[in-house]
Amino acid sequence: MTRRVDNVIETKGALILGAGLGGLFTALKLAPFPAVLLADAHPGVTGSSVKAQGGIAASVGEGDTWQSHAADTVAAGAGLCDPEIAALVAHEAPERIEDLVRYGAHFDRLADGSLAVGREAAHSVARIVHIHGDRSGLEVTRALVDSAMQTPSITLMEGFHAIELAVEEGRVVGLFARTCSGPERRLVLMRASTVILATGGLGALYAVSTNPPETRGEGLGMAARAGAVIADPEFVQFHPTAIAVNLDPAPLATEALRGEGAILVDETGRRFMPAIHRDAELAPRDVVARAIHCELVAGHKVFLDCRKAVGARFSDAFPTVYAACREAGIDPAEQPIPVAPAAHYHMGGIATDRRGRSSLDGLWAVGECASTGLHGANRLASNSLLEALVFGARAAEDVRATVQPRPGRGTLPAPARYASPPVPRALREAMTRYAGLERDAAGLAEALKVIDQIERAGGHESALLNMTVTARMVVAGALKRRESRGSHFRSDYPQTDETAVRTFMTLAEAEKIAAGAGAPTTNHPKARAVR
Ligand SMILES: Cc1cc2nc3c(=O)[nH]c(=O)nc-3n(C[C@H](O)[C@H](O)[C@H](O)COP(=O)(O)OP(=O)(O)OC[C@H]3O[C@@H](n4cnc5c(N)ncnc54)[C@H](O)[C@@H]3O)c2cc1C
Repeated sequence: MTRRVDNVIETKGALILGAGLGGLFTALKLAPFPAVLLADAHPGVTGSSVKAQGGIAASVGEGDTWQSHAADTVAAGAGLCDPEIAALVAHEAPERIEDLVRYGAHFDRLADGSLAVGREAAHSVARIVHIHGDRSGLEVTRALVDSAMQTPSITLMEGFHAIELAVEEGRVVGLFARTCSGPERRLVLMRASTVILATGGLGALYAVSTNPPETRGEGLGMAARAGAVIADPEFVQFHPTAIAVNLDPAPLATEALRGEGAILVDETGRRFMPAIHRDAELAPRDVVARAIHCELVAGHKVFLDCRKAVGARFSDAFPTVYAACREAGIDPAEQPIPVAPAAHYHMGGIATDRRGRSSLDGLWAVGECASTGLHGANRLASNSLLEALVFGARAAEDVRATVQPRPGRGTLPAPARYASPPVPRALREAMTRYAGLERDAAGLAEALKVIDQIERAGGHESALLNMTVTARMVVAGALKRRESRGSHFRSDYPQTDETAVRTFMTLAEAEKIAAGAGAPTTNHPKARAVR
């Protein structure tokens, strides 16, 4: 494939794409091994990491054990977690929290100096470490950005939007990135011995989502187009309690509120969760999200009532949620908060092993864009930042042990502000409508048709393809899984199939499934040129 490239850069060490918690932590753990950290916007501003409210799960509280954390993770995963991965993540969690403290994260502590821990849904004990109540993601990311800026081996490059992996003889040797939009835009080939994708999730592919607009599933799309195996793409988690005030992204009412005792009620004040699950509001996310969805479909309104559980403490204990409510004209200390489920987290992603390696030579993936087997069909709350930390550290260790840094060459052009491509409205609407909380074969086939139309209308442009390919992987995975489990509910296959296993598929396989569902496939990566 020929590409008109304006500049070729040879990076010295690892090339990390994405400057959320996954990318930043991996770069820090790599040091002094050199790393170029590439992102479309300023680190500490973009991505989901800065939005994280609840915190990070780790068995650091009095009487807690990593075995209990692992058991809760496996229970939430609805039969599809890899128990060995759950054990290693839970076991390594306290060490990764110590790393964060070393990098400058000031977690909330008790009077005796020990870490304060909160409780979230489906955790059997309180084990979530946090900062300033609900500002955990922002504060941890800020600490990592400061540390990265003081680490000589890390080069932070913002203003680059990656659109395709560079592959030679089956090995990933770098990536193509644009420096800015409009007539001046430049295409840069950044070559590297190691590429680590840390591009986050895909929530912005849905019309109703808690995720920021950068979470377009592009890392997954690029990897799939290069031939990587994708795992569990159908498992998209919907957060039960996004604040329903017509904002995009939808602000989140953190699960920790329910951990504090907040209850879910309808417009008459009727509490409906106790009749559905023994843990009531603290049941696993998929159970709570579907219960709210059913109430909404039945014509009710749903509210999170925090008046008794949190009340006057609200503004101090949950400043982010408080500010979001006040902006929408709601005083959560005095009024119930209107809520609805929203796309929130992708359990699926680029299939990786316990060292963070993908199925392609030269390509690692960490954070939400990866699928390690930790989450199964349903992520346990506050396990995602943890997964990014554990596998960031593991990928770094693997790269340091197996890759030699090489001399750098070329000068990066000064990046202009990049205007990230928006996700087509029709794609977001189709994903919410047909590949959302409830799916069936007919709706999923419709989604595939819409995806195909959008690709054609967009002239198969590369950045667009990264989104549509990811959407196609989700839909194909959902079509293939003829059962209901965890976050994936098929109204035409409501039963759980006890023999079902995790999904592992390439784009070529997804296209076969799409063709079987009646959608044309015009999208083979090898037929594309970068535009
Ligand atoms: C509102 C909210 C609350 C949450 N609360 C919690 C919580 O309490 N606990 C928890 O464990 N998890 C929580 N999560 C989930 C968690 O925040 C994410 O899973 C995690 O932050 C993902 O980190 P990451 O580093 O993989 O990706 P991100 O932090 O999303 O970073 C991805 C980066 O990649 C960049 N990027 C993407 N594509 C490109 C491209 N093509 N070119 C250049 N750059 C690109 C983005 O700009 C960004 O810098 C929450 C998520 C949300 C949205």
